[in-house]
Amino acid sequence: MTRQPNLIFMMSDDHAAHAISAYGSRINHTPNIDRIASGGIRFDNCFCTNSICTPSRAAVLTGTYNHVNQVTTLDTPMDNRLPTYPQLMQAAGYQTAIFGKWHLGHGPAHDPTGFDDWVVLPDQGEYHDPKFLTADGPVTIEGYVTDLITDMSLGWLEGRDPERPFALMIHHKAPHRPWEPDHQHARMYEDETILEPHTFWDDYATRSAAAAAAKMHMLDLDETDLKAPIPEGLTEDEEISWRYQRYIKDYLRCVASIDDNVGRILDYIEADGLTSDTIVVYTSDQGFFLGDHGWFDKRFMYEESLAMPFLMQYPPEIPPGTVCTDMVLNVDFAPTFLELAGLPVPVDMQGHSVRPLLSGRTPENWQTSMYYRYWMHRDGAHNVRAHYGVRTLQHKLIYFYNDPLGQPGAMGPIDPPEWELYDLDTDPFEVHNVYDDAAYAPVVTELKAELARLQAIVRDEPHQR
Ligand code: CA
Repeated sequence: MTRQPNLIFMMSDDHAAHAISAYGSRINHTPNIDRIASGGIRFDNCFCTNSICTPSRAAVLTGTYNHVNQVTTLDTPMDNRLPTYPQLMQAAGYQTAIFGKWHLGHGPAHDPTGFDDWVVLPDQGEYHDPKFLTADGPVTIEGYVTDLITDMSLGWLEGRDPERPFALMIHHKAPHRPWEPDHQHARMYEDETILEPHTFWDDYATRSAAAAAAKMHMLDLDETDLKAPIPEGLTEDEEISWRYQRYIKDYLRCVASIDDNVGRILDYIEADGLTSDTIVVYTSDQGFFLGDHGWFDKRFMYEESLAMPFLMQYPPEIPPGTVCTDMVLNVDFAPTFLELAGLPVPVDMQGHSVRPLLSGRTPENWQTSMYYRYWMHRDGAHNVRAHYGVRTLQHKLIYFYNDPLGQPGAMGPIDPPEWELYDLDTDPFEVHNVYDDAAYAPVVTELKAELARLQAIVRDEPHQR
């Protein structure tokens, strides 16, 4: 009988796919993360159902949408009695552990459950000499957070029972704001100018009011982000470009440390002979704007923020160098890991196991559209408006319903509703909103019906005005 596979799930925080060379990054190289892609599968259409840390983490763990698991915003900690894939794997005899970022709340009702061992950062955590929370109380450890999380993970692997399968969650804090690099990478890119993205100078001309109202522009980066005084005598455009260089270099330095540490984990797996029966995953809790549309951060349903990197290596089922363009979602992760472990997927989980896609056997009725919802209407800092929408393989329809609905962390006021439609075939960077273009009227009708259909399937309520 084949042994149940091990799982090593590496998830960083805010690492966009377009800062990974396996995904064709124009601005950096990630040789170690790329090893997972070349040894396994790269998913090119993986999307989150809500592009913000806490909600996406809850969707990953529970396999449910945020209106179901109730983790709608950054201020809605997860009830730790909800069934998660680590709990179910632990109950089935797996050794389980999580090291790093949890960000789903703390205390008896929210601490990690389903783990034999856990050491997690309080909320966002710190980059340098961070405090960690454990079942035995807090502990502060000297060092750089990405290295420390990897050290703990390797130590745990070393001490495990080799006779039983394991599931290890390595949840990095980096490259989350405020993008503090380690000493080793502090001067990387110092003498280079990083390419500005295609949409860096986007003027939001055809868009809803939401795009121009967002406070995620390079000009909204603060002193903590920039870590240097703004040079005198710059024009506004020059200052915007200067700010981008400050931002993107620190971001990429944090990514470089992640990549090194992914390499340490992969080296261990290979040296320990675990490759053939270990599922290795690299992902991030959502995408990120890397100067795209002039922005940092995430939240919007636009591509750079919606798309998640998702790489998986598992030699028994995945031919090396596989690329999958089928649509997969963060809610699909939990059912996938459970099925690969040979465990039943609870009927309450809303995602679908991607297992057939690993070997290119896409089911006839596989999903070709997805439902997205961002609830935090006008949080204090970023000012992104509440919206939901549908993305198909070619189009994206977004409805800014613009209502805080009493959600924790959503401030308001209510704004007039607005729609956007993008044709991703002709406009992959989403700069031409064609919602009011008569030629697209049939597409609007079709996508509104699809949106209603998806809301009914996932059991969310259309906004009532
Ligand atoms: Ca995040």
